[in-house]
Amino acid sequence: MQRIHRTIENAYKVLDGGVLSREEALELDRQVSGAGLLDLISLANKVKDKYVPEISACSILNAKSGVCSQNCKFCAQSAHYQTGIDTYPLVAREQALAALEKVHASGVRSFGYVTSGYGYLKPDREFEYILETLDAMEARFPEMKLCVSLGVLSEQTAKLLSEHHCGRYNINLQTAPGKYAELVADTHGIQQKIDTVKYLQAFGVEICCGGIFGLGESSVDRIDLALAVRELDVEGIPLNVLMAIPGTPLEKLPVMEPAEVAKSFALFRLLNPAKMIKFAGGRETVMKDFQGLLMLAGVNALMTGGYLTTRGRSVAEDEAFIGRLKHFSSDSRKLP
Ligand code: SF4
Repeated sequence: MQRIHRTIENAYKVLDGGVLSREEALELDRQVSGAGLLDLISLANKVKDKYVPEISACSILNAKSGVCSQNCKFCAQSAHYQTGIDTYPLVAREQALAALEKVHASGVRSFGYVTSGYGYLKPDREFEYILETLDAMEARFPEMKLCVSLGVLSEQTAKLLSEHHCGRYNINLQTAPGKYAELVADTHGIQQKIDTVKYLQAFGVEICCGGIFGLGESSVDRIDLALAVRELDVEGIPLNVLMAIPGTPLEKLPVMEPAEVAKSFALFRLLNPAKMIKFAGGRETVMKDFQGLLMLAGVNALMTGGYLTTRGRSVAEDEAFIGRLKHFSSDSRKLP
């Protein structure tokens, strides 16, 4: 018990601008459990309150669904698996604008335009259509932040996106770089994703880059993912908990224990103290009763109004939820 306390005590240096090393994160992962986990969550919440106190929300449109050539093992949209989801080609511009209008009316100011598929290495007709759609969105609702997620890009397509109101780009590493081929997919490599991040950063686009917990990875893999996104210096880190989709190779994986998720969320916060960390997929559907506790483990953003292929809570329900979470803001830096 004494040792656990010292390990967490050492991590309080993050509140004073200290940087947690990989070894220190691994030590916390090894040593903290049971009641000590609440101490770790409390510290993560304090760090969140110090560096990124506001809780934000975003909503997304699945602008093109399914029939993807890639074989990501968790994904309902891969053409390699029979998942029975709704599939459709790129939605028409007016449909995308209508979705944006609905999100705008709900009060959410961040809108994600997401397509299934490998990505766009050349500015083909579909990519040009997307660029024109982004222009139309910006013209209609200039106050909205447009986030785009189209998969892998080349330097050329990254530059074009940066010139067409892409305020932020989402591309997830999903898991530790060394485990990508084993746990995620072998039809593409993680390096192509890292290159995409670097192209976009060079053109001034903010990056949202995180992953999924519960793919069968270890807690060490999750720490290595947290370090990989720290290394990339991204603005936002969306974290999902696997919603096992029937028909995918991961359909029988057990749901992660909420305590394990909480520990990894807290370690992500301590390793990335000033970044936006978003609880994305799995919040309501997988973590159910524990979503409130998990939001206090260093998370400062959530996705609301549903996900790519599954439903979520309404924006109004989440607004009330965020309002109640604010009562847990910490105003003390004392040790527990
Ligand atoms: S995660 Fe993206 S690239 Fe992978 S199968 Fe799903 S849609 Fe395709």
